[in-house]
Order: sequence, then C-alpha cells, then structure tokens
Amino acid sequence: MTERHMMTKKKEIILKGIPAAPGIITGKVFLFGREQYTIPRRSIKDDHIQNEIRRFKDALIQTKDEILEIKRRISEEMSAEHAQIFSAHLLVIDDSMLIEEVVSKLKKEKLSIEYVFQDVLRKYIKVFSEMDDEYLKERTSDINDVGRRILRNLIGAKEDILSNLKEKAVVVAYDLSPSDTATMHKKNVTSFATDIGGRTSHTAIMAKSLEIPAVVGLEIITKKVESGDTIIVDGTHGIVIVNPSPKTLKKYELDRERLVAVEKHLLELKDLPCVTIDGKRIELVANIEVPEDVTSVLAHGAEGIGLYRTEYFYMNRKDLPTEEEQYKAYSAVAKKMKPYAVIVRTLDLGGDKFLSPLDVPQQMNPFLGWRAIRFCLARPEIFKTQLRAILRASAHGRLKIMYPMISGLEEIRQASVILEEAKSELKKESVLFDTDMEVGAMIEVPSAAITSDILAKEVDFFSIGTNDLIQYSLAVDRVNEKIAYLYEPTHPAVLRLIKGVIENGHHAGIWVGMCGDMAGDVIMTIILLGLGLDEFSTSPIAIPEIKRIIRAVTADQAKAIAQEAMTLSTGKEVDRFARKKLKAIVPDLAIEVE
Ligand code: PEP
Ligand code: MG
Repeated sequence: MTERHMMTKKKEIILKGIPAAPGIITGKVFLFGREQYTIPRRSIKDDHIQNEIRRFKDALIQTKDEILEIKRRISEEMSAEHAQIFSAHLLVIDDSMLIEEVVSKLKKEKLSIEYVFQDVLRKYIKVFSEMDDEYLKERTSDINDVGRRILRNLIGAKEDILSNLKEKAVVVAYDLSPSDTATMHKKNVTSFATDIGGRTSHTAIMAKSLEIPAVVGLEIITKKVESGDTIIVDGTHGIVIVNPSPKTLKKYELDRERLVAVEKHLLELKDLPCVTIDGKRIELVANIEVPEDVTSVLAHGAEGIGLYRTEYFYMNRKDLPTEEEQYKAYSAVAKKMKPYAVIVRTLDLGGDKFLSPLDVPQQMNPFLGWRAIRFCLARPEIFKTQLRAILRASAHGRLKIMYPMISGLEEIRQASVILEEAKSELKKESVLFDTDMEVGAMIEVPSAAITSDILAKEVDFFSIGTNDLIQYSLAVDRVNEKIAYLYEPTHPAVLRLIKGVIENGHHAGIWVGMCGDMAGDVIMTIILLGLGLDEFSTSPIAIPEIKRIIRAVTADQAKAIAQEAMTLSTGKEVDRFARKKLKAIVPDLAIEVE
C-alpha cells in the first residue's frame, strides 16, 4: 500500500490496490455504506397506536413498490437472473409473522413504531445469523437489506442505493455484495473501488462483465474519501487517486484519451483472424456470466465462448432453476453464437460463489470443500437437470460441456455416467440433441494437472482454469488481498504445470485451452502461445489486445520466448522477461517495463 500526500487544497492521496477491470475514469465519489440510523426510544399515547400501525403499513407498501420497481429495472437492464435477488426480498416483506410481532409489540409497549420495528428486526437478524441451516443463515442479509429499507421509509430518510444514483459516480465501498452489484445502475456507476477483494473475486468478475474500470483490495479507501470527492480510478494498473492535483488530472486525462484511442484501434482488429505472422490459427473466445453478455462477446470479435459460468442461475434465489428455464437460456446463447461454439461449464457453486437455495454447509476451507463437480456428483438430480437442459439446447447450435474442479479420473467417469443417463432418457423421450457433443475437463486442481496424461484419454478437450490452479498450486487464497502479492501467474511452478497439461493434452490428440484470467493477461500471451496453447478464453474487453499480440509474433518466436521463460527461477524474473519481450514486439502497448 503506498500513500503520498501533496501540498494541494485537499490532500492528494494515491492508493495502490488490485486491478479488477481495466480502464481509467475520473469522477465524483459516491461512498456506499451501510448507513446507521439512530432511533430514540419514544413513548406514544393509546390513541396514537392506530396511527402508528397505519404508518407501518404505508412504509411496507412503499418498500414493496420500491423493490418491485428495482426488480423490474434490473430485469430489463441486466437479466432476470440478476433480478432474482429481489424475489427473496419480497418474501421478507410479506412475512406475516414479522408484521404481527411488530404490531403486537407496539400495542403492548406503546413505543414509536420505528423503535419497535428496529427492535424486532434486530431480534430476527440475530436469530437468523445464528441458524445452522446455511440457506436460512444466508437470508440474514436479505432481512437486513429489507429491514433497513422499511426503517428508512418509516423515518423518511433518503435512499442510499446504487440503482437510484441520480448522477454519474464512482462507487467506493468496503465490499460489494452480489445484490449490490446487481443493482448497480450501469449508466450512472462509472467505476468502483473497494477495500477488500482479489483479482478473481465475484466483484472483479462482475466489473469486467459490466465493462467498468475497477480496483479492489484497496484496504482503506473507505476511510480516505467522502462523497463528492474527486477520484481517478485506474483499473488497468490498480491505482486510485483521491483529490488529484491539476497536474495529475491532466496526466490521467491524457492517459485516458490514449487508452480510448488504442481501444478504438483495437476494435478495428475485430474482424481480422487470430493468427500468428506465420499463419498459426489460435482460437480466441470469451467468458460469459449471463446470456446478455453475448452482445459484448460479438462486439469484441470473439469467435465463440470458452467458458459460460452457469452458477449465476442458482445464486440469489429460493428455488432451483428448472430444466426448461436453463434450456431457454442455453439455447438462446447457442443460437446467438452460431456458427461459433459455446462451452457450457456445469455448475460450480462453492468457493466464493455462494448464496443459493442449495443447502451447502458452512465450511472451514470453502475453496477446498464441497464445491463444483463434488457437489454435482453428490446431488445427481440437480446435475442431471442441468445436463438435460444443455443436451436439449445443443440441438440449436454448437454446445460443448465442461466439468469444473476435476481432481481425478473417477470424477470424470462418474459425471459421464450421469451424462449418458441423461442422453438415454432424452432418446427415449424422442428429444433431439447433438449426439457428438464434445465433453471436456477444466484443469484447475494440481492433481488434475499432474495426472493430465491420464485424464486426456477420457475427454475431448482441456481448459486450464488458472484462477484456481494458481491458488491451489501456490496455496494462495484468490480472494485474500493480504496475500495478493504471492498470487503470481508467472511463478515457475504454475508455468511448469501449464506446460505439462498442454504437452499431455497434445500427446493424447486433444486440444488445450485456458479460461482463467491468465488467458487475458497480455504479459502471458506470448509465453502461452509458445507453450502451444490452442485456445484463449477471456473477458470480451481483453479480446482485441490479445489478438493484436498474437498477430504480431511468429509461432517460432513465441516458442523461443517460452523456452527461455521456462529456464528462469522466480515469478518476478519471468514477469520482467515477459514484459521486455512483449514491449520489443509490440512497442506501443501500455505496459510498464523496468
Ligand atoms: C478458473 O478457476 O480459472 C476459472 C476460470 O473458474 P472460476 O474463476 O469460475 O473458478
Ligand atoms: Mg475455477
């Protein structure tokens, strides 16, 4: 963390965090906090009780209207999945037990309605937060969210939520929950900066999907800003500057203009093929979270989808997504992407993707716990519903299936048994599907990487998930900002694992791709190309730049650079070396070189 003070009217403060989504933006801060209301204990007379009950009912109606309006807007602007969070909020409002308890307490204690409501709310939050049932426990934040809304309407305070921002602003927060990011008004939230989070946490992934610059893991940003302060967010380098001096503002304005010009130039590459100078064809495809992301995928010139993260379907809702609902979403993506292929990754809940109707117990080490394929194999009925939906959707385009978190051969075999069952059911029902659909495994657990020669015989392709592979092989929690400095994509251990996976895949005659964030990291592009990677799958915004680099080298040149990189001893050495080589090949690329 670096912090520098300069002699300006309001001190300029520079904070270094973790780059979460690229781009530079200057704007005014909106400090998004969980505001605390102070409500005094006030007695009321008997003849005021009916009036207080009426005020309470009015506040409930007002809150319900607000939530319905946000739900409608989110559904229009983002997707039905994002809007699901608010269905859970509506359930809280309609909870007759809570309402009855408030009214009876009011009649008994004869205190103001806001005081009584706050009291009951606190009790509910305490009871729910101590529940053993994980699903009910997760409802604490819904109760909290809705309770605060009702309270705010009772006391007539102003709303402090992201969907209601009236002007463009940079949102600064301790953290942003999935419910916060879902309500972000894309037009007015120009960027965000948070105290906590890592490069591949939910918030970082969401920022990339919203295409707004973001810096996370700033540790103390919320303590350094006030709403209305001027702020520069440099999401490309992970830097945030509060109250910038006129000189700094000018510098960043020039940087931003340069970046916009480069982006424009990069988009001109959109329709050019992704080939090296000497004609080696590379698959350059995109990662998506929700079907609506397809528009951005096509706009950035991706030639397919290498990772469709399906867990957003299951998050923030009370029920499970039906086969029909999933079928509709997968078919819509398949149709829009035709003739390109779409790799649908089966459910990967757990780790930092939680909040679901699935009863996943709290775990000491969630990333090492009951997640992804482990969960699916233990709950085959949920897994098969998803597989049937993907199979049915395969009749409408080119779909492939990919299993997450594979750690050994048995898991692939067990998953395939369930897949075969789903296929024979559909055959019996005379439902059409692609009988030759490719099935692949994500390689993101060190044991899978090390035994990739064995696994390669069982699947049609590999996709390396570096977000998890790095955290597991280096023992560095991917969402912990305190140890983010150890999260090194260039670490020789990581490079050796990747090299082995590519070689083993090729030896068995299958193609090998990568869908972790490393695939969109320009520093790594030439090395990965030189190691023989066949497919790069990354966020749509990173596509043009990766294409530009691939089109600037020959396959032999990349191979020689990769070979030399493999002889280096530390992540820092590899990083320095890769930057130097990259700068020599693409001199105007905005990267730092020592
Ligand atoms: C990965 O681990 O690299 C990956 C792409 O999957 P996720 O980030 O969804 O865990
Ligand atoms: Mg993963």
